[in-house]
Amino acid sequence: MDKKTIYICDICGYVYDGEDFSKEDESYRCPLCDHDKEAFHERSFEHEVNLASNEYHHVHHIDEN
Ligand SMILES: [Zn+2]
Repeated sequence: MDKKTIYICDICGYVYDGEDFSKEDESYRCPLCDHDKEAFHERSFEHEVNLASNEYHHVHHIDEN
């Protein structure tokens, strides 16, 4: 399974593009808004995809009725 985890800054939406966010130094700061690591939260691509497909199925079901 190619499950990719990304980290996104909640303040400005910047997506962390390094190797492993958990290994970044505690002094790491968002290059866009300069907030510290506390502003970043984990997101899973696989989770996002599942949510999207469930939503499509739900909409399709409504159309049939
Ligand atoms: Zn930011």
